[in-house]
Amino acid sequence: MARYTGPVCRLCRREGTKLFLKGDRCYSKCVIDKQKTITMPGQHGTRRSKPTEYAKRMREKQKTRRIIGVLERQFRRYFRQASRVKGNTGETLLRLLETRLDNVVRRLGFASSLAAARQMVTHKRVGVNNRIVNIPSYQLKPGDRVHLTDSAKGNLWVRRSLGQALQKGLPSWLEMEGNISAELLKTETEANPLQNVPVAGKVKMWPARQEMSFPVNEQFIVELYSK
Ligand code: SF4
Repeated sequence: MARYTGPVCRLCRREGTKLFLKGDRCYSKCVIDKQKTITMPGQHGTRRSKPTEYAKRMREKQKTRRIIGVLERQFRRYFRQASRVKGNTGETLLRLLETRLDNVVRRLGFASSLAAARQMVTHKRVGVNNRIVNIPSYQLKPGDRVHLTDSAKGNLWVRRSLGQALQKGLPSWLEMEGNISAELLKTETEANPLQNVPVAGKVKMWPARQEMSFPVNEQFIVELYSK
């Protein structure tokens, strides 16, 4: 599936908020933190006008789409899928996005950003239920087990990211299997301390709305697409 490959900080500037698309770097080297007022990209970026009701809904949709890194056609497909399910369409939409394989790899701490997670998946560094899966949009459900391959366990960036995630703690809908201590992952040596340790996480249940990675008003997205 096609994806946006341009500068990602530009997307944050367009939305006027931090979308955390670069992982750890968003906490230390963010352009938005350096600016007093956020200027939008482009020649007329400093212009401010009151957004219309339509524009507010459009921005919420764009923000969500950019956080998860999908293009319009795929996002609409998610919306159609969500609208066929009984219950709150907005929440179902976000749940479908949250439980994509690339996002779960990021939330488990196997990668520090969604782009890194997606690369790990497409490069066959991740498996689901003991089978290698290289489709970032692969949909996970409660009970599914996501594991790292041996080559991924040897990667220093993966170990660093995992160590940080374990210190911060995982969301309650995910759990880590195996005996991985944060101390073990801090060992920045060439030798792989995880060589004989299975590194895997499990989706325990569907994520609750407050634990999802989307600080957006999902009702606005439903209203935009239901016009
Ligand atoms: Fe957005 Fe991260 Fe770039 Fe900051 S560093 S503008 S949060 S992508």
